[in-house]
Amino acid sequence: MSLVSASKLSKRYRAGDIEVDAIRDAEFVIEPASFVCFVGPSGSGKSTLLNMIGCLDHPSSGTLRVVDTDVSGLDRRSAADFRGRNIGFVFQDFNLLPVLTAAENVEYPLVMVQRWPANKRKQRVMAMLDAVGVADQAAKYPGQLSGGQKQRVAIARALVANSKLVLADEPTANLDHATAIRIIELMKSMRDGFGTTFVFSTHDPKVMAEAEVIFTLEDGRVARNAH
Ligand code: ADP
Ligand code: MG
Repeated sequence: MSLVSASKLSKRYRAGDIEVDAIRDAEFVIEPASFVCFVGPSGSGKSTLLNMIGCLDHPSSGTLRVVDTDVSGLDRRSAADFRGRNIGFVFQDFNLLPVLTAAENVEYPLVMVQRWPANKRKQRVMAMLDAVGVADQAAKYPGQLSGGQKQRVAIARALVANSKLVLADEPTANLDHATAIRIIELMKSMRDGFGTTFVFSTHDPKVMAEAEVIFTLEDGRVARNAH
């Protein structure tokens, strides 16, 4: 059973009289515990697609199943609940809360959604920071961390609530090349260790080469690369 499946998936944006077909009749499946990249130039539809998979935006037509749920019809509240239980996010600009320490940022999804007891939360947070190699940075604030360290904290946050799926929209865009490759390798090792499916996007061919499954986006059309 695939983790994500899309059939005739389309997204049309309307801004006044102008219509943009951001995703056109996409057909794809993503298997559990896979390491998947969507690659394409700016404007090709990467964010639109990841936002639909992440239930941050609705398809205009077609079907989209994520973790055994038809997500195209979820209302805001159900979508938020679904995300909290199943999906972690990693962003290009890290999106850590500046007033919280690294540990508090990682703890945040557990406080917000899962209501774990405090001592269990702290243990889980430290285990995740250790897994991504920044346990020694736990008490620092995001402003005191390097880009690579911030993205490690963000990966720990995306995984802390046992997400089945992590969506990372251009996670390496603000990192130098060597750090970018290390972050992708870290995500792959997290997939190996936790069985979490990772789906990321990039327009960098060197980053894309680290993926096991590659889909190319061009003007909203999705094609699977031969590997
Ligand atoms: P990428 O992430 O690959 O750069 P996007 O998914 O952001 O591409 O955008 C795909 C297309 O949809 C682009 O033509 C973009 O201008 C358009 N688009 C994205 N978001 C909106 C929106 N909220 N309203 C109107 N058009 C949008
Ligand atoms: Mg984008």
